[in-house]
Amino acid sequence: MNASLQQIDIRSHLKDPSLFREDAFINGKWVKAKAGTTFSVNNPATGDIIANVANLNGADAELAITVAEQALIGWRSKTAKDRAIVMRKWFDLIIANTEDLAILMTLEQGKPLVESRGEVAYGASFVEWFAEESKRVTGAILESTWGDKRMLVLKQAIGVCVAITPWNFPIAMITRKIAPAIAAGCTMVIKPAEQTPLCALALAELAQRAGMPAGVVNIIPSDADQSIAIGKVVCASPTIRHLSFTGSTEVGRILMAQCAPSVKKVALELGGHAPFIVFEDADIDAAVAGAIASKYRNSGQTCVCANRFYVHQKVQAIFVEKFAKATQAIKVGNGMTEGVSQGPLIDDAAFAKVEKHVADAISKGATLVTGGKANASGLNFYEPTILSNVTSDMLITYEETFGPVAPIIPFDNDEAVVKLANNSQYGLASYFYSRDIGRVWKVAEALEYGMVGVNTGIMSNEVAPFGGVKQSGLGREGSIWGMDEYLEMKYVCVGL
Ligand code: ADP
Repeated sequence: MNASLQQIDIRSHLKDPSLFREDAFINGKWVKAKAGTTFSVNNPATGDIIANVANLNGADAELAITVAEQALIGWRSKTAKDRAIVMRKWFDLIIANTEDLAILMTLEQGKPLVESRGEVAYGASFVEWFAEESKRVTGAILESTWGDKRMLVLKQAIGVCVAITPWNFPIAMITRKIAPAIAAGCTMVIKPAEQTPLCALALAELAQRAGMPAGVVNIIPSDADQSIAIGKVVCASPTIRHLSFTGSTEVGRILMAQCAPSVKKVALELGGHAPFIVFEDADIDAAVAGAIASKYRNSGQTCVCANRFYVHQKVQAIFVEKFAKATQAIKVGNGMTEGVSQGPLIDDAAFAKVEKHVADAISKGATLVTGGKANASGLNFYEPTILSNVTSDMLITYEETFGPVAPIIPFDNDEAVVKLANNSQYGLASYFYSRDIGRVWKVAEALEYGMVGVNTGIMSNEVAPFGGVKQSGLGREGSIWGMDEYLEMKYVCVGL
């Protein structure tokens, strides 16, 4: 342990201290790593050590896979209605414990409490939604081409699944995967991000209280090195039938390649580089509000954050003026302080990347409108920043920044801006503001993105299909389609 770091007792912050767990959760039991090792979790706002969590390895992962396989038999043979009853109880418990979960989240991830509370509700919504959807899985009876045969389609749980999740949404990225999986009758092994295992473990505690049978949900925390080892084990395992990953495109490619030998089904929610277009007929105040919400939420650390602002020349001056004023009003600080609207970046590597993107843009001729430096609140705090006169040779226009920096690029015609917006290896979220109904349809159809926000900067919820095209990933999460990932179609032909 670094001697300069303080170890704080997180339990004192919680109404229910038993939600704070440092052991792994396998087969309904709290267990240590076989090797007895732990890794530390830090509060990104202060650097304090807030937990020493079991550091599992490949052998522990094998055990979790085995128990999930054993639990599969009982869980998938329950009726959907019975699975839904457990899930609904879990949803109620998550909501009832919102404040403690939000505190755990802010302490390990850094986002302001108000955002953490919002994420608990968002994360819980997937549990509620898929509890309901589980009852609506529907097969089919086909019109047979043979008089003496009948043809049917059954939909069945794919089997044991694994989820590898990121730190930016420590609850929602987990529930968005577990909920459809267990609703379908699958069991799951979850490896949370090394930065944010505490929310995942608290979710497991609540799942157990809800009556989730042992082995249906297993949480195997690990540090960065063991994550790589565990990744190899779960990808190679013939027992695991589905891997769901949210994280960087780079790691997504590695996992996809590792899953190839066992021909595993994969769902990947990877990086993004969202364009945010403000046309000359836009409601500028609405566009500014959308830009603030889309850009600075979670300190700019979401895969759907606006990364490139294309603003029509005719409205550029007024947009920049209003956007800068709203940006300067953002209160940066420790997320545990009420009233703070932007917390720290997750770690020093994240901070260094933001600094690099800003320095690169300025060295190539961008103008700093506001921000552009560290914030005095602490080590990893960066000022909400706007750059204007940005050009497409600057790193920030094609690499994901994952930080609170808004680069503004002027444009003067629709066709050119759509082309610029589509000029990316990514295709996750996109946004534009216009009041012209013809333009709205044309641009929404032309954008090569999995999601398009028209006159809004926030669009994710459990009802909508979340996911990307191109190198932003494969598959969709949430919505009536989210369970398809976890269901296999089986064709049955019955001779009479
Ligand atoms: P980020 O850059 O946002 O931290 P990553 O893609 O590196 O995203 O990490 C997302 C998740 O993937 C985390 O849970 C991390 O531990 C895990 N991870 C990173 N590299 C690997 C790997 N090679 N194999 C398996 N999991 C990995």
